[in-house]
Amino acid sequence: MSNYRVLLYYKYVTIDNPEQFRIDHLNLCNTLGLKGRILVSEEGINGTVSGTIDQTDQYMEAVKSDDRFDDLFFKMDPADGHAFKKMHVRYRPEIVSLQLGEEDLDPNQLTGQYLEPEEFKAALEDENTIVLDARNDYEYDLGHFRGAVRPDIRSFRELPEWIKENKETFMNKRVVTYCTGGVRCEKFSGWLLKEGFEDVAQLHGGIHNYGTHPKTQGELWDGKMYVFDERISVDINRVNKTVISKDWFDGTPSERYINCGNPRCNRQIITSEENEHKYLRGCTHECRISPENRYVKEHSLSKDEVAERLAQIGETLPETV
Ligand SMILES: [Zn+2]
Repeated sequence: MSNYRVLLYYKYVTIDNPEQFRIDHLNLCNTLGLKGRILVSEEGINGTVSGTIDQTDQYMEAVKSDDRFDDLFFKMDPADGHAFKKMHVRYRPEIVSLQLGEEDLDPNQLTGQYLEPEEFKAALEDENTIVLDARNDYEYDLGHFRGAVRPDIRSFRELPEWIKENKETFMNKRVVTYCTGGVRCEKFSGWLLKEGFEDVAQLHGGIHNYGTHPKTQGELWDGKMYVFDERISVDINRVNKTVISKDWFDGTPSERYINCGNPRCNRQIITSEENEHKYLRGCTHECRISPENRYVKEHSLSKDEVAERLAQIGETLPETV
């Protein structure tokens, strides 16, 4: 039985005193017993919270009682428990980290055409449309829409620069973008229009809405969807699920995400439990032998034990470490 829920939502709307709003909102969440992460800015709100059915019902009611948010669209996932350990409400200059600087824009003034899930599905099947993934590389690698373009970037905020470099490829085509819940595409699709692209659309409500929509049920989505909470990933395709992600170390199919054990690296890699042990949770030799390696600390491995493990994968521990 799922007695809990995860709510995912955002809205671009002017918040005049975000610091006061942040304090009041944190109080509301704490009083209700929610956990999660909410970003607040002059330009709006972007959050994911978890709680019981009752707590989340009360939260949605409280939020919607504010005129600024009476039309807020909450996307919901059933859950078995909280998806976060703590409750944070933080101020940020922007609710998605696109860092457009002087090119920044208000999606209420300029944004791509909204496509409902069934319209987006038609776009996926149309060979004259370019479907562009507007997320980070590790999100794409875990799962994405079939045939979607994977920009050659590591982080979402590098996307505008990458588009400028590859403008010729997309300029005269219809470009459709998608992201997890839609918040990143609101701004990014607006930026594409500003940049001179004429035919730009976005998946309304993001991948989440596409996966739960009765008409699409996530069809044409391959793999899983990365989420920014303790669940790490969720299923989207309810018609014909596939596994597309591969183990960082040996390339076998895997959907298990971990952070590299070297805190200075922290790279998100997909790997089996077996390989995590084998490679001491390090994504590279440097990360494996890092004196700060969390895996080595958690398992209280001695120098000799580390050297022994490394020998099994043909590596040696340098004298100086
Ligand atoms: Zn690493």
